[in-house]
Amino acid sequence: MPGFEVQLVCANGHLLNDWAQAQAAPNAKFCPECGEGTLSRCPECDTPLRGRFLPEGAEREPDGGKRIARAPRYCHECGSPFPWTAERLLAADELAAQLDDLSDEERRLLRAAFRDILTENPRTEVAALRIKRAAEHAGKGASRILFEVVENLASETAKRLILGP
Ligand SMILES: [Zn+2]
Ligand SMILES: [Zn+2]
Repeated sequence: MPGFEVQLVCANGHLLNDWAQAQAAPNAKFCPECGEGTLSRCPECDTPLRGRFLPEGAEREPDGGKRIARAPRYCHECGSPFPWTAERLLAADELAAQLDDLSDEERRLLRAAFRDILTENPRTEVAALRIKRAAEHAGKGASRILFEVVENLASETAKRLILGP
């Protein structure tokens, strides 16, 4: 039957398997990448993580359907950020707290901008611009770390806006 498969990821957001039911071979209790435990359901609402979509008959093909490149950021059922998303935001907030020469208001705006570059939304472009400016003011070492945070956090569009093509 056509439908969505189940995705298996680790608590750090490494994607182990995007069709964990039909092709169970790559499934594991712990992540080979980082050693964290794996999960296939939303910790908040227990809905299975949505894997690749398999059209009719695709589950029998060696690589049927369209492969998913990375773990989702939010639960499609309840909207909660997944643990890896929350962790990355925490890291970004810690960085914002450490950047010198920012007023409290600028820090608050930078934290909001980190949330807005996670997804494609009407505020993504403004948020990207804000982060770019912060990086220009931050000095070499700090801006390098800021760009690493962006690399982990941002949607593809936001990444292009901030880091260039
Ligand atoms: Zn991992
Ligand atoms: Zn959920």
